[in-house]
Amino acid sequence: MTMSEIGIGARERELRERAARVVPSGMYGHMTARDYAPSMPQYLSGGEGSRIWDADGREYIDYMCSWGPMVLGHRHRVVEAAAEAQRRQGDCLSGPGPVLVELAELFVATVPHADWAIFAKNGTDVTTLGLMVARAHTRKRAILAAAGSYHGAAPWCNPWPRGLLAEDKAHISYFRYDDLESAREAAAAVGDDLAGVIVTPFRHDAGHDQEEVDPAFARGLRALCDEAGAALILDDVRAGLRLDPGGSWEPIGVRPDLSAWGKAIGNGYPLSALVGSDTFRRAAERIFTTGSFWFSSVSMAASVATITTVQAERAHETMARIGRLLRDGIASQAAEHGVAIKQTGPVQLPNLSFDGDEHFERALVFADECARRGVFVHPSHNWFLSSAHTEDDVDRTLEAMGHAFARVSAELGTV
Ligand code: PMP
Repeated sequence: MTMSEIGIGARERELRERAARVVPSGMYGHMTARDYAPSMPQYLSGGEGSRIWDADGREYIDYMCSWGPMVLGHRHRVVEAAAEAQRRQGDCLSGPGPVLVELAELFVATVPHADWAIFAKNGTDVTTLGLMVARAHTRKRAILAAAGSYHGAAPWCNPWPRGLLAEDKAHISYFRYDDLESAREAAAAVGDDLAGVIVTPFRHDAGHDQEEVDPAFARGLRALCDEAGAALILDDVRAGLRLDPGGSWEPIGVRPDLSAWGKAIGNGYPLSALVGSDTFRRAAERIFTTGSFWFSSVSMAASVATITTVQAERAHETMARIGRLLRDGIASQAAEHGVAIKQTGPVQLPNLSFDGDEHFERALVFADECARRGVFVHPSHNWFLSSAHTEDDVDRTLEAMGHAFARVSAELGTV
């Protein structure tokens, strides 16, 4: 398929051609349109609520929510007002603003396992920091992680080997998600060198069906860490604020020692946080960590507004309700068209896969037709809902998805 045959607009095509000359492989990282369906735009020029616009001015209902950050929707009034008020006073100053203290207090009040907070910018900053605090506290080296879980793009956790050394992953060993026995075996293999276990609140590995956490597995990891004096680190970067404002394992009653937050906490403003319990306070004091932009006040003011609004408006419940409507609607449409699908994980982070679709051929056709009809969904990564998504959005989405299922079944047959 050539560029002129696919559904992208003239401005998008021009930008891609220019980028191909000055940006490595046209675009790097998780947002590259190389992983998208042909009609999905790489470049977006604006957003409002549940909607985004591409560079050619086409409107989409956005189910990627900037890959997580937009938990209240694009340009949320309360968050933008808080950010603007702070911007008028100053953002990147020669020291942190008073808002840093306010935000740390808010985290400690909101997240039951948190007694302190450190702020950074990206999720990778704070998952990495979690390992540092765990190692500083235990004076041990080994970290256990679930094979296939994503914790960021730093060398210790980068899933791709190019540009890395085998040594970068020294002292990281792996277990299978939801398989406590494999975690126990991995712990036994490192003997008395266990510093911590890092785990996502449910299994949300890209390109795979999602898996809810087995509470017995979570409790087992908690016990394993307690026995070894190691840190249980919850990587809540992707799910944080969408399931429970107190942390995504609050509903199952398992409290980590440290948790890493990012994405949604600033509703689009760049901010991440590592929070931890008193036991790990001394270690958090002993390590050195910083960044030129980690102290900017605008993101922190936006985060105070975001967390407060999520709680006041019970945004996670709205997302659960809308997510349920979407999931049920998709299920009945797929059945109507005789297309076998799976929808997995929490409804606030929808994940759709097609049976027998190893190379995502069906998912690509589906996402392509959705894009042509104004619905932005990724073919092989989970989607994100925001509390700005409405029942009307779901109706319009299902209207588009009906055509998308029909195209999948016409082009690739039912499974
Ligand atoms: N942990 C998880 C679970 C994530 O989903 C991500 C980002 N997708 C990260 C860590 C890394 O966050 P960032 O891209 O902001 O560094």
